[in-house]
Amino acid sequence: MKPIILSVLLASVAIAQPRYSLVLKGGHVIDPKNQIDAIRDVAISDGKIAAVAPSIDASTATKVIDASGLYVTPGVVDMHVHVFHTTNIPNAWAGDNSVDPDSFSFRGGVTTMVDAGTSGYRNFDQFRATVIDRSKTRVLAMINIAGYGMMTNLMEQDVKDMLPEKIAEVARRNKDVVVGIKSAHFEGPAWTSVDRAVEAGKLLNIPVMVDFGSFRPERPYWQLITQHLRPGDITTHVFRPAVPWFDENGKIFDYLKQARARGVIFDVGHGNGSFVMRNAVPAVAQGFYPDTISTDLHGPSMNKGLIDFPTTASKFLALGMPLKEVILRSTWNPAQVIHHPELGHLTVGAVADITLWSVEKGNFGFRDSLEGMIKGTERMRCEMTVKGGVIEWDWNSISGTDYRKLGPSYGIRPAIDTIVLPPKSN
Ligand SMILES: [Zn+2]
Repeated sequence: MKPIILSVLLASVAIAQPRYSLVLKGGHVIDPKNQIDAIRDVAISDGKIAAVAPSIDASTATKVIDASGLYVTPGVVDMHVHVFHTTNIPNAWAGDNSVDPDSFSFRGGVTTMVDAGTSGYRNFDQFRATVIDRSKTRVLAMINIAGYGMMTNLMEQDVKDMLPEKIAEVARRNKDVVVGIKSAHFEGPAWTSVDRAVEAGKLLNIPVMVDFGSFRPERPYWQLITQHLRPGDITTHVFRPAVPWFDENGKIFDYLKQARARGVIFDVGHGNGSFVMRNAVPAVAQGFYPDTISTDLHGPSMNKGLIDFPTTASKFLALGMPLKEVILRSTWNPAQVIHHPELGHLTVGAVADITLWSVEKGNFGFRDSLEGMIKGTERMRCEMTVKGGVIEWDWNSISGTDYRKLGPSYGIRPAIDTIVLPPKSN
């Protein structure tokens, strides 16, 4: 008898529960993986995408948000950031310039950040304990081929401490967050840094990202992308000044197209000196789009031309790239590159990482990482960021309630607050 009563009770509770925790109504969904580019409602339940359809009955939803006039996309996967303060040593590189992930992610529509090699095998555990495991942002990581990562520039030159087996050991222990190997800032004449990184990448079956460091005659860039990198490996900072992009007629060199045909990934990695309009404008005009749009976010870059993810993405609108191509290269493409195909799309059952954007029209200026600027007429602004079904950023408070409708007890903590009125003045 008893079990039957219990199950009846449970059934009635289930009916009373809202079916969805959140419904986004009437936004323009751009979900490149599922080839959706249309007005759709999006429903969330248990932190996952529950439905995407032209019309969803929201009467049982806990919260409904009017997304009309906004674009609704997967949460951004920014594949190149620096979020691990390694040291205060004066000549440190990006490690010392790192920023706190949650302070910069959600406000820019970013739900997943990939730290690009700020830590090495010697300090990865510290990075994990102090940043990765403490952030609301999903922080994934590429391990630097240099033992101490970007602690100082000198350590990034220490080929004796570029040890693929050691990296593999750390990476295997942290399989859930390690997505690649990084080689960066290398100044030597040999290919040691790149080739050791590729060796580690082979041991782990994960991609390698190369910041080519100094461009030297002994190891030309064309050899990096046509010979040393494997399909699926990443060349970041693709629009940096020293990359030879154009022949004497202004046409894109064939070696770049050959590398792309081999499957090498071209990543933006805007940063503090790695994105010049002189390369980006004609490359995009000739149809050579970067595969992934990333910021190379760190202290010095965000206070200069980079600014943030929405600004970086807006630069590509100004260069003439359609919005849905920008979204593809900010979500589904990077998710695949880092072998996390569960991210970067709005498929039913996927984690509910979602960004709502407005695209403002006006007269805007966009600066590269040097002095170059171009004008544009559109600027993306992150209106709302949802991670795992939770609203983490809401620029215009579209999820809020008019305070007059909340009643006199709103915000008062019944267990500890007592309102004591002042004495009457008369
Ligand atoms: Zn970087």
